[in-house]
Amino acid sequence: MKKVFLYGNWKMNMLPVEALAFCNDLLTRTKGGLYNAASIEIALFPAYISIAPVVQALPDDGIIRGGAQDGWFEDRGAYTGAVSMDMLRSVGCTHVLVGHSERRSIFGDTDALVGRKLRKALNAGLVPVLCYGETLEEREAGLTTKVIERQLKSAWEGLDVAEIAGGRLTPAILLAYEPIWAIGTGRNARPEDAQEVCALSRNLFKERFGPDADCPILYGGSVKESNSAELLSRPDIDGALVGGASLKVESFLGIYENYRRAQAEGGIM
Ligand code: PEP
Repeated sequence: MKKVFLYGNWKMNMLPVEALAFCNDLLTRTKGGLYNAASIEIALFPAYISIAPVVQALPDDGIIRGGAQDGWFEDRGAYTGAVSMDMLRSVGCTHVLVGHSERRSIFGDTDALVGRKLRKALNAGLVPVLCYGETLEEREAGLTTKVIERQLKSAWEGLDVAEIAGGRLTPAILLAYEPIWAIGTGRNARPEDAQEVCALSRNLFKERFGPDADCPILYGGSVKESNSAELLSRPDIDGALVGGASLKVESFLGIYENYRRAQAEGGIM
């Protein structure tokens, strides 16, 4: 049985009070049964102001973790509006997204900046979730492989294998393949296409860091209950980075529960 990584990116949604209500509901619904540290890891990525309350509301049981949607690559200084990786760590945050397509397209994060953030996150003891993916134009022009390779190789520049050691079950880093045309559009990638890019990503990771190196690879882009079983059953898709469907506990957990139900009924594919 594979361990599923179910990560929820709340983006700019939910007030702290709503975030706490979500956590209470989540904790009630994840007691026992399908929910244990061997079968699932959940991470919530609230807005900055809700990280501390969310982390404080979560038990330290290895099942549910708190992360940030972004972090800056310097420790301190004149960076108005920025929050450093050390600051995130100081409030109990364990994970951080880097390179989300909305950061790249709206806030101008370049491949080089994403690389700096990735290195800083690792130095600060956070687990980075490196997000990458192609636009629709790039896919239609047959450039997907080239774009993925560029984004990943540039982000990894200068990293040492010891920094990413952790593996597929207790990772020091995660990859999140998110085709931009599938984010927030309701249109998910075909499971076979998502699998192909995730397999390519794993190969690139191994090429770069050695055959024993590994990490979980998430797929993101309109993941919901109705498509999770097919996506999560692919061998190189270890989990999902979820936007819209992560805002309600029921639809968020339904992604995992549907997959498990399908497995119990004899699997998919
Ligand atoms: C995301 O923003 O990372 C995402 C995958 O969003 P959605 O699930 O809404 O497509």
